[in-house]
Amino acid sequence: MKTVAIIGAGAAGLMAAEILSQSNIHVAVYDAMPSAGRKFLMAGKGGMNISHAEDFARFVTRYGTRQVELAPYLNAFTPTDLRAWLHDLGIETFVGTSGRIFPKEMKAAPLLRAWLHQLRSRGVQFSMRHRWLGWQANNPTKLIFNTPNGEQIVTADAVILALGGGSWARLGSTGNWVSILREQGVNVETLQPSNCGFNVAGRDYFKERFAGQPLKNLELKFGDFQQKGELMLTENGIEGGLIYAASSVIRDAIFKTGTATIYLDLFPDKTAAELLAKLNKPRGKLSTAQFWRRQLSLEGAKSGLVREVLPVDALNSSALVIQTLKALPLNLLSPRPIDEAISSAGGVSFDELNADLMCKKLTGIFCAGEMLDWEAPTGGYLLTACLATGRAAGLGALTWLEST
Ligand SMILES: Cc1cc2nc3c(=O)[nH]c(=O)nc-3n(C[C@H](O)[C@H](O)[C@H](O)COP(=O)(O)OP(=O)(O)OC[C@H]3O[C@@H](n4cnc5c(N)ncnc54)[C@H](O)[C@@H]3O)c2cc1C
Repeated sequence: MKTVAIIGAGAAGLMAAEILSQSNIHVAVYDAMPSAGRKFLMAGKGGMNISHAEDFARFVTRYGTRQVELAPYLNAFTPTDLRAWLHDLGIETFVGTSGRIFPKEMKAAPLLRAWLHQLRSRGVQFSMRHRWLGWQANNPTKLIFNTPNGEQIVTADAVILALGGGSWARLGSTGNWVSILREQGVNVETLQPSNCGFNVAGRDYFKERFAGQPLKNLELKFGDFQQKGELMLTENGIEGGLIYAASSVIRDAIFKTGTATIYLDLFPDKTAAELLAKLNKPRGKLSTAQFWRRQLSLEGAKSGLVREVLPVDALNSSALVIQTLKALPLNLLSPRPIDEAISSAGGVSFDELNADLMCKKLTGIFCAGEMLDWEAPTGGYLLTACLATGRAAGLGALTWLEST
């Protein structure tokens, strides 16, 4: 019986195991961590958004510059297929109002438990605390692992690398595979933060005062990007779904020009004329803060931001205040470190892979998941592409083994 070694027990690696375990193949999964699927479990904290039910043509565009490369894998494992697969696993799903797909229980743990149980019952062998270090004497069938019992050499007929990206290293995805593959001549684009927060210019006093406060009902504008949502102020700058959605374009702009200015509309549902009508009302003896609160319900972090941006003598100018409320500029200095990001961009270049995700330079070695060079916003797009490419790598390994 032929053996396939899968390195990385995350969404992509487990999906490859799912495919291979249905054939007459010995499937051995290795992971550096003490247990499988740690990032998968983390993704499930506070609601596991595993995919998205929007129109499929729109869905594919979420993968931006890599939609062409990923489309065949997503076509072969659509969000509908993903839901059917989960159903077969005994996990029911539902579509939220925003189109996001969640397991009914919202959590990742029951899903992972059922999945691992199924894989074990099909004979998949799991070896945890096995850190892959590379190949012995550049032989693609001989894998070196650092294990609790010292260094071990494992032989496999084919290998699937599903080693994850470079964020949240404490969950296992350290990105230290980058140098191993580069040494073999494989082009790996540098891992960068994706779906990340940003450091923002401004006074420490302001940041400390408002750290942890949400900014709700905003519209963020940056170049062609324009979207409503929420942000969170932090001691360094900003985090949250809205900035994550814009993070790839902002990151690339900072990379090119050194800085990026985003504009926040603090009242996206009101026109400037409506705001002016409110600010033109008689103020009486109210302070600026009291007047803003009464007329606009403007207080807390939003009010603080306006004061941070405008000089004191401009606060009495309705025109300047309204201009700021509708387009408050924030100067973003740099993305937060990759380890804090939800996901990473960069990875194994698609030029290095054939259609079955096998490395052209390393026969019998397949790659899948976040370690490939693509990125996508949050919303279930990340996990869907990890599962779809894991499936493709599993099928690719099967086809390749049959042909050798
Ligand atoms: C906080 C958070 C929330 C998220 N929420 C969502 C969400 O709601 N929806 C969504 O779609 N996505 C979400 N994501 C992203 C999603 O979880 C990841 O994109 C996905 O899990 C990546 O899967 P993967 O299999 O490619 O890699 P990983 O899950 O990172 O798995 C890689 C595995 O490889 C192992 N490994 C790495 N190097 C070695 C080595 N040298 N030797 C042996 N083993 C090694 C690691 O230990 C790890 O187990 C979230 C991520 C985070 C951090």
